[in-house]
Amino acid sequence: MTISGFISASARWSAEERPSFCAGADLTSGSRRRPGRLTRRSPPRRRPLRYDDGRMSAISKQVIEQIRSRCDIVEVIGESVPLQRAGASYKALCPFHKEKTPSFHVNPQRQMFYCFGCHAGGDVFRFVMLRENVDFYTALRMLAEKTGVRIQFEDERESGPDKSLLYRIQAEAAEFYHELLLGGQGAAAREYLKSRDLGDQAVRDFMIGYAPNAWDALLKWGGKKGYAAEALEAAGLVLRKSGASGDSGSSYDRFRNRVMFPICDEQGRVVGFSGRTLDDSDRSAKYVNTPDTALFHKSRILYALHRARQHILETREAIICEGQIDVIRCHLAGFRSAVAAQGTAFTEDHARLIRRYADGVVLVFDSDSAGMDATVRAAGVFLRAGLVVKASSVPAGEDPDSFIRKNGAEAFDAVLKSAVSPVAFHARMLARRENIRTESGLLRAARAVLELIANSPDSVQRARLLDEAAAELGVPKSALEDNLRALVSRRHTLQEPDWTNDGRTPGQTAGRETDIRPAEKDLCIHLVQAADFPAMVRLVTDHLPLSMIADRRCRLFIEAAREAARRKTDIQAALPSGEKADDSMSEFLAEILMSPPKAERRDGMLDRAVEEIILYLWRERLKAEKAELEKRLQAGGGTEEDEKKLCQLTHDIKALRSWEDGSLVIRMLMKP
Ligand SMILES: [Zn+2]
Repeated sequence: MTISGFISASARWSAEERPSFCAGADLTSGSRRRPGRLTRRSPPRRRPLRYDDGRMSAISKQVIEQIRSRCDIVEVIGESVPLQRAGASYKALCPFHKEKTPSFHVNPQRQMFYCFGCHAGGDVFRFVMLRENVDFYTALRMLAEKTGVRIQFEDERESGPDKSLLYRIQAEAAEFYHELLLGGQGAAAREYLKSRDLGDQAVRDFMIGYAPNAWDALLKWGGKKGYAAEALEAAGLVLRKSGASGDSGSSYDRFRNRVMFPICDEQGRVVGFSGRTLDDSDRSAKYVNTPDTALFHKSRILYALHRARQHILETREAIICEGQIDVIRCHLAGFRSAVAAQGTAFTEDHARLIRRYADGVVLVFDSDSAGMDATVRAAGVFLRAGLVVKASSVPAGEDPDSFIRKNGAEAFDAVLKSAVSPVAFHARMLARRENIRTESGLLRAARAVLELIANSPDSVQRARLLDEAAAELGVPKSALEDNLRALVSRRHTLQEPDWTNDGRTPGQTAGRETDIRPAEKDLCIHLVQAADFPAMVRLVTDHLPLSMIADRRCRLFIEAAREAARRKTDIQAALPSGEKADDSMSEFLAEILMSPPKAERRDGMLDRAVEEIILYLWRERLKAEKAELEKRLQAGGGTEEDEKKLCQLTHDIKALRSWEDGSLVIRMLMKP
């Protein structure tokens, strides 16, 4: 920046100041924006990512740094985002918001990225977290695998076969079954799939397989691979004969003569199977699922989520079906955000999983009476999780699979578009089942609908649903209101975890702390040079108590700058990183570290710039004090002491316009 550039920068500070009579008490709120500056685009809809869920404590900082040092951020980001070189760094169209000119920057020196458009930013772990929508632990593991760093997690040291072995067994078993389907033995299974109109693409995309009609096909395969019967049992693939001991002669295959649908976790790793029988005269179950194992927890698995999650993220809405074939059909027809529960009703865990990707769900279950009931139950679970819920249904006698096959994608799209609120869905279903024109019928229907609404933790959502209930049932809203209030208060005495709060402690701000005072931000940008300009840091230490800094991230940055000046290291080494930095901290640090310098890198220039900021922040503080005092005096409640104080403040504020006089005032004010 040139000298004239610097002067115009400081002139902006004075332009921002207002006469004291209108200086509000916004000293600490930091809500003022620099005039003439473009207002921020609204941030992309992103949820705070979770950083530490207890697993982190098992991984040492050393391992994290080892992984970081082996990943080049340019390389990692470059794999999914086309980067263009721009001087010493790189830029690209931001992968996190829509834009036409690149504002996404990657800095190889700092190993950081930052988008000046949507303010996404951070280190390589954070990029993976945002891009893959995973937590820190998962991002760490993904990068560890990529770089070949071996990390041992606490939960892998539990007794029994270690998890990585189970993952390997599941993946290889899926291939084993898949190849059997494609081979000579798989003819009957292929015939069945053909009858369900599931062709090559479905078989390939969903890695469908075949478990032969034998008691030991998988056991023998495992034996050849060197997998002990215990390991196969822990994977849920074989069962032990009752009373038998460990050798393989006493075990048998769980899945026999079945079409096999591998079930994957969010990352696409096979964790279990669902097997559909090929013998309809068979007295065993139509579907057999992997039991709960170290990898497979049916209450936490959504079928096809690994394929759907990117699409769900884009639309912020998930299509929820009942069966896995419905899901496969949806995906084949282009409805790629479809998922289903796996052999169980929807649980709070499922809802939480969805909520990481979506703001809302559309439920499309079977059209029979059981499917309708299941829709209403699932709607309650998703409402409780704070999601926007809509429900639709295909015509009687159909499920999404058969409907799409008969009527095509466009017709199914119309079904999705015709989805209504769960209240309307429920009320209409009840109206078909009983006569709501009778008083007792109406009372039952009203009660059932209110029970559903009471699931929502959000009073705005409840109010909107109540409007609908009143309209659907033809009852005045006021009549329903009282009953709902009673239901809600009863629910709240048995309080569920607060979904709207994302696990934060009450009172903590849930939103993004974007409105930092520009002066504080500029101060931080200057302080990036702390190690090279210790005099500047001393100025801040001597003239600016941390209590005068409104933004907590800025306070932390100043402390790091002192540390950097003392140790003569780059400030980045003194800042929190990786799992230690939360969302808003990561973004703040990326923005500060990647902003171009605001003053010339010369002792004098930086010091002058910092002095300006110090004077400004003090003036702001005294002006707020003065405004407070004037208000008291105008109200007639002031004393003679107050009059004197007012005089003093007016004088001090004037003195704070130059460093010569101002620094004396500051030293006076800072005296204990
Ligand atoms: Zn962006």
